[in-house]
Amino acid sequence: MKSHWINGVWTPSLGGGKREIINPATLEVVDTVAEGTPEDAQAAVAAAEHAFHHWRKLPGLEKALLMHEIARQLRDDVSELSRLLTLEGGKPRIENMDEVEWCAACFDYYAEVGRNSYGNSVPPTAENQINFTIKEPLGVVGCIVPFNYPLLLLCWKIAPALAAGNTVVIKPSELTPLATLRACEKAFNCLPAGVLNVVLGTGAGVGEHIVEHPKVACVAFTGSTAVGTDIAVRCARQLKRVNLELGGIDPFIVFEDADLDVAAHGVAWARFLNAGQVCTSAKRIYVVKSVAEAFLEKFLEYTNSLVVGNGMDPKTDIGPLISQRALDKVQSQVERTIAGGAKLLAGGKRLDVGPGYFWAPTVLSEVKTGLVSVSEELFGPVASILAVEDAEEAINLAAASDYGLGANIYTRNMGYAFRAMNEIKAGTFWINDPLTDNDAAPFGGMRKSGMGRELGEEGLDAFRETKHVHLDYLPSRKSYWFPNVRRAHEIPVEGQ
Ligand code: NAD
Repeated sequence: MKSHWINGVWTPSLGGGKREIINPATLEVVDTVAEGTPEDAQAAVAAAEHAFHHWRKLPGLEKALLMHEIARQLRDDVSELSRLLTLEGGKPRIENMDEVEWCAACFDYYAEVGRNSYGNSVPPTAENQINFTIKEPLGVVGCIVPFNYPLLLLCWKIAPALAAGNTVVIKPSELTPLATLRACEKAFNCLPAGVLNVVLGTGAGVGEHIVEHPKVACVAFTGSTAVGTDIAVRCARQLKRVNLELGGIDPFIVFEDADLDVAAHGVAWARFLNAGQVCTSAKRIYVVKSVAEAFLEKFLEYTNSLVVGNGMDPKTDIGPLISQRALDKVQSQVERTIAGGAKLLAGGKRLDVGPGYFWAPTVLSEVKTGLVSVSEELFGPVASILAVEDAEEAINLAAASDYGLGANIYTRNMGYAFRAMNEIKAGTFWINDPLTDNDAAPFGGMRKSGMGRELGEEGLDAFRETKHVHLDYLPSRKSYWFPNVRRAHEIPVEGQ
């Protein structure tokens, strides 16, 4: 049985509980892991707090060397890490190989950005002064991660947090902890003991206790809007820093001038990637009426050609959903959308391609604003197509949302592109190249999609405080010190 990684060693759960990790494609048990308790969370925070005193002072170059070493080890282990990611999460192996490479790239990026940035010099307000800022780590950072990109969303937190001099306590999703544990064994183990700790378990058993622990200075969370809201409230009570990467109901607009061959494939990628279990997947697809029929024809043909199956099979484009619960929810959301008037053009059913949680890539047309598939976050391979009169209506409807994670468009018309960019609130706005990330560019959400940013320099600042240092190199008595009576002549006389 796999156990927690605390203070640089495998540590059995204090409660003795265990959990089976199920392959969502085959329903076989992949492995068994410890089920954590509040006491395990406390032990991990204590180790991280102890390690912080040394880690925060380690010179930037030494941190960078360790972080490059992690990147190297992750790349070396891509075969086993991607295998585990597919076995526990279902995503096709080739996409998990990409995920491992992105993790390594993120560590390489923050290794260098971290040692290149330590504050600024600022102009003084008087002679003989020197003013500068220094960036300080926050302390222990709690990192809580969802199931859909278990390693990538972890690295987007821990790479900048560690580069900034913090130590971390990680809670992976209880459904997908195995690749994270493997990374401890093969890559993270080069860090000094206690700098990085992993506690396994559920939100109630472990996650809440990390959030509530008074020695945790910051919580970095990726997951649903409901859980993120609860975490924000808990952190607010302690005035604790919190970074929230939450759910999304992203729009995708296909304008009438788009290359429909490219758009049909791009929209399918943006909606069906990882079986639609992507925070930024295209959940509202607006197509201008004059090209809607032609687009749908190409989109349907392509959708029907996609191969659903076990992610270990190289032919597979779309793997299973993560759990029975997820499958039941998608089914209910599709049925309620059809009951509300949407038309089913493809899929709409479970697929018998294995014992696991497979759902056929689904296309719904005549979806109206307000129907379930475009008003609730739908975490499955379900494309909701809304035909709109013109560019104006497309932009207005796309902009009307309580969420603001990402937005995509296909157009060659710069007027459409920049109007849409200005009107739609979204942390990332993709023009003609859906869902592409860049380590150097910030990623995050607006409105109910979260607060704070990961990646880029903002992603580093999410884990730092700024201290202003003021120095007078010729100490002298100041003319404005007590006694005030010396300056009484400066006070205006009342009535004059
Ligand atoms: P989830 O909110 O159910 O769980 C996320 C993590 O939080 C898990 O590790 C879970 O155990 C933990 N957790 C649950 N309750 C908790 C609590 N009360 N206190 C502390 N931790 C708790 O989300 P999920 O189903 O794993 O992931 C899917 C969701 O994540 C979707 O809504 C998706 O949009 C979102 N997501 C967002 C981003 C982003 O960058 N914005 C990226 C990926 C996923």
